[in-house]
Amino acid sequence: MSSIKKNDKIEVLSGREKGRQGKILKIFKEKDTALVERVNMVKRHTKPGGKAGQQGGIVEKEAPLKLSKVILVCPKCSKTTRIGYRFLDSGDKVRFCKKCSEQLDS
Ligand SMILES: [Zn+2]
Repeated sequence: MSSIKKNDKIEVLSGREKGRQGKILKIFKEKDTALVERVNMVKRHTKPGGKAGQQGGIVEKEAPLKLSKVILVCPKCSKTTRIGYRFLDSGDKVRFCKKCSEQLDS
């Protein structure tokens, strides 16, 4: 199970995009993959015409990355970190950065 969530900033650990950082746009839980903003771009050919009357051509789109290949970048200390969990007095489970111990969820 990955503890990465939408809008988290991540860094890519391996593959051709190694070292790239970006924001999680969407997570596909069933596949354990995620779309990361401006990372792992692929070119897609589009046909001319269509609803908006677009021209045919090539568009760049994000392709899903395996969640096992990314690591969270802490918004507080800006380091790549593993995620820990703790419970608040309210009983809510929140994530925290194992590097700086700052809470990641509000
Ligand atoms: Zn941190």
